[in-house]
Amino acid sequence: MSEKVKRNITCPKCGNVKETTLLCSVNASSFNEAHKQIFDDTFFEWTCEKCGETRQLLHPLLYNDIKNRTMIYYIPNVDRRQLVDDRLEAEFPELTDVKKRVVPTINALKEKLYIFDLGLNDMAVELTKLAVAELVTKSQKLNVSEGYLSSYDEEANSIGFEFFVGEAGKPFLQSTRLEVYKRSLEIVETYFKDEDNRQGFLTIDRRWAKEALGQYRKLKK
Ligand SMILES: [Zn+2]
Repeated sequence: MSEKVKRNITCPKCGNVKETTLLCSVNASSFNEAHKQIFDDTFFEWTCEKCGETRQLLHPLLYNDIKNRTMIYYIPNVDRRQLVDDRLEAEFPELTDVKKRVVPTINALKEKLYIFDLGLNDMAVELTKLAVAELVTKSQKLNVSEGYLSSYDEEANSIGFEFFVGEAGKPFLQSTRLEVYKRSLEIVETYFKDEDNRQGFLTIDRRWAKEALGQYRKLKK
């Protein structure tokens, strides 16, 4: 289901127009070419053949990972919480039991790929991240603007995140014991399993984790 479109792209530096093939969807599995290119920031790279100017040409990408049974839809700056693609659902009825996510940034796309490659549950990762971010806010007395899963080590019993803290968004690494992730997974499997079987692509991020935590606290009362 690799889908391509051709576009004429004008170089922002010299004005040269180059016909460019954009890959709108890829059938991928871990560690293939597209996967590698996303992680080394070359997937969206565009180079002008006349003056050599290079830039990131960001465009929607549907990343279909058959092995992990996940689909990640990267749509630059998308602000929808749920996205239903009727054409896609009609074309692939088996999609109902595929985990579908929509992400607004390349960093979020990379994080989802990393999470699913590790075989982790992204809802549980978000709940864990939120708990760890609260610890960082308390200990550093700085606001956490964003954070991403950066390590997962069963032997060391540790799950780690890279946060960006304070006004300047300084990187800050913080890890916690795997029990926090396991507890989060229990919560997800008890209370949020149905949500994952909903139609369409869901945004599972920090805002989702905050809302889910609020719901969970109410339900537990
Ligand atoms: Zn140029």
